[in-house]
Amino acid sequence: MHIRKDDIVEVVTGDDAGTGKARTTGRVLRVLPDANKVVVEGINRVYKHLKPSRQNPQGGRLSKEMPIDVSNVMLYCPTCRRGVRVGRRYTAEGRKERYCKKCGNALGFLGRARQSYAQGS
Ligand SMILES: [Zn+2]
Repeated sequence: MHIRKDDIVEVVTGDDAGTGKARTTGRVLRVLPDANKVVVEGINRVYKHLKPSRQNPQGGRLSKEMPIDVSNVMLYCPTCRRGVRVGRRYTAEGRKERYCKKCGNALGFLGRARQSYAQGS
């Protein structure tokens, strides 16, 4: 899984996808690796209508984000200002990081530094 919690992603397909220049982005609230799905803030929201009850005399509706397929989102690159394809590489310190395949900018680390991957000695 190349997407992590708190990542900013662009939704590229589905009902919430942006059209043309309008890009739909959101923060990843949850990652469901087994299902290959992610929950993105404000995306794929469903409304549950509630009847008035004692606790909630007004009734009303409750909104909740449903998971979407991870293939429908791309990691957002602030430099390219769009969702991009992501590569992985090791930094000189031996840290694994993600990077934008388009502009080459780093997009955050994955895990800790590992001495064995550090360059030089
Ligand atoms: Zn980029």
